Amino acid sequence: MQIRCYNCHKPFAIGKEAVSAALEQISGGEIHHLDVPCPHCRRVNRVSKDELARFAPAQGKQDKEAT
Ligand SMILES: [Zn+2]
Repeated sequence: MQIRCYNCHKPFAIGKEAVSAALEQISGGEIHHLDVPCPHCRRVNRVSKDELARFAPAQGKQDKEAT
């Protein structure tokens, strides 16, 4: 998924696997959001569950698309 860094405002991508793993941890109550360091400025961006779920609405099911 593409997100925009809150600090330097540059877009960067989060891998689909990282998104899925984060959603699993969130649904398991381990974390409440995903911390993603910006590759441009190294600031950690918080990605909320809602944002992750928007990218991966099929969480909990098998992937329909082949990446
Ligand atoms: Zn940044």
